[in-house]
Amino acid sequence: MPVTHAPQTTDVLTRQDPELAEILLGELHRQSSTLQLIAAENFCSPAVLAALGSPLANKYAEGYPGARHHGGCEIVDVAERLAVDRAKSLFGAEHANVQSHSGSSAVLAAYAALLRPGDTVLALGLPYGGHLTHGSPANFSGRWFDFVPYGVDAETGLIDHDQVRTLARTHRPKAIVCGSIAYPRHIDYAFFREVADEVGAYLIADAAHPIGLVAGGAAPSPVPYADVVCATTHKVLRGPRGGMILCGRELAERVDRAVFPFTQGGAQMHTIAAKAVAFGEAATPAFTAYAHQVVANARVLAATLVDEGLVVTTGGTDTHLVTADPAPLGVDGRTARGRLAAAGLVLDCCALPHADTRGLRLGTAAVTTQGMAEKEMVRIAALLAGVVRGEVESVPAREEVRDLVGGFPPYPA
Ligand SMILES: *Cc1c(COP(=O)(O)O)cnc(C)c1O
Repeated sequence: MPVTHAPQTTDVLTRQDPELAEILLGELHRQSSTLQLIAAENFCSPAVLAALGSPLANKYAEGYPGARHHGGCEIVDVAERLAVDRAKSLFGAEHANVQSHSGSSAVLAAYAALLRPGDTVLALGLPYGGHLTHGSPANFSGRWFDFVPYGVDAETGLIDHDQVRTLARTHRPKAIVCGSIAYPRHIDYAFFREVADEVGAYLIADAAHPIGLVAGGAAPSPVPYADVVCATTHKVLRGPRGGMILCGRELAERVDRAVFPFTQGGAQMHTIAAKAVAFGEAATPAFTAYAHQVVANARVLAATLVDEGLVVTTGGTDTHLVTADPAPLGVDGRTARGRLAAAGLVLDCCALPHADTRGLRLGTAAVTTQGMAEKEMVRIAALLAGVVRGEVESVPAREEVRDLVGGFPPYPA
C-alpha cells in the first residue's frame, strides 16, 4: 500500500502493534486518495493531532479549573483556561464551556440547563434538516421533550418564518432551536430572537455546522442573539472531535453544571488542549481567508452542479454546504451516492424538503483545507455529474480523483 505521509509518528505503533498501525495508515491513505466531500468533515492540523495524542489523555479531571475532584490538575487547569479564554475571545462570548464530548452532548447539556422533561420545544423538523437532537423519536430529545417541528418553504427551500412565528404563538414553547445539518443558507438569528422574546422562550442556536465560518467571519454569529449556542469543534472549525457551549454570564453556572456533573464525568483534557490549539489557529488571518474560500468554493460547486442539471436546494448556498437532487439526471440520491463512492467521491445522502426521494449533501470544508479552489470545484462538479449520469465509469473516475487529490495532500510531507 502506498504510504502517505503520516501526520504523527506511527513508528511506535508500527513496532508495538503492526495490525493497528496498518489500519491507521490504510485510513490515512483512504482520506488522501479519495475526495472528502462529507459536509461535517475536515482535516485538522498536525498540531491538533499532536495535542490529541499527548499524555494529557492520561489525566482525570472532573470539575472545572480550580475546582476539581481529582488531584494533580494544576497543569491541565491551565490548558482548559486557555481553551476557554480563546473560545470567548474568538466568538465574543461572555462564557464558554469546552468540555462537551460531542455536539450532541452539548445540545443535551443546553436542554438540561434550560428545560424540564416534557417541555415544549420548537425546532426545524428532521425532514427539513433538523438534527437527531432536535426531536427525533430515536434520540433523548424526542423522548424527553415535546418537539414541535417547523419547516422550509416548498418553493424556495428557505426557513418558513411565518410558520415559525405562528407555531411559536400557538404552542408557547419553552425554547426555540435554530440550526441544521443541511440548511445551506445563513440563519436569521435576529428573527429567531424576536420570536423567542415575543413568546417568552429561550433561544438555542445549534451552530455545529457554521461555527467555523463564524470564527472566520464568513457567517453571521448567533452569539449576540441566542441564550445558548451549541457547537462542534470538528466541522468547519477544523479542531478535534468534540462539542462546545457559549452563553452569557447569567447562564454560565447553569450551563457548567448541566455539562458536569449532569451529563458528563471527567473532562477529556487531551481533547480540550486540542480545542485550544484549534481556537488559536481559527483566530489567525489565514483561517479567515480559509473560511471565505470555503464559501467561495461551495458557491462555485453549487453553480456548476446547477449547470450540470442537478436541482440545488435554495438554488445555491451561503455556507460550506450544498444539498442537491440528482433526479433530473435520472438517478435517485442513494444510487448516486453508491456510484460516487465507487468512484472515490465520498459524500452523504440527505432528506430533501418536500420530496419523497433522498438528495446529496456535500461540503467544501475538507477540500478547501487541502488547498483546492474554484477551478477544482468546477472539475469536481463536472466529474460528479458524469459519474451520476453513468457517463464516466468508476475506474477512469477513480483515476481522475487520484489525479485531482494528488496535487493536494492533506498532510504534506
Ligand atoms: C453535527 C451536528 C450535531 C452533533 O454533533 P456530534 O458531534 O456528531 O454529536 C448536532 N447538531 C447539529 C446541527 C449538527 O450539525
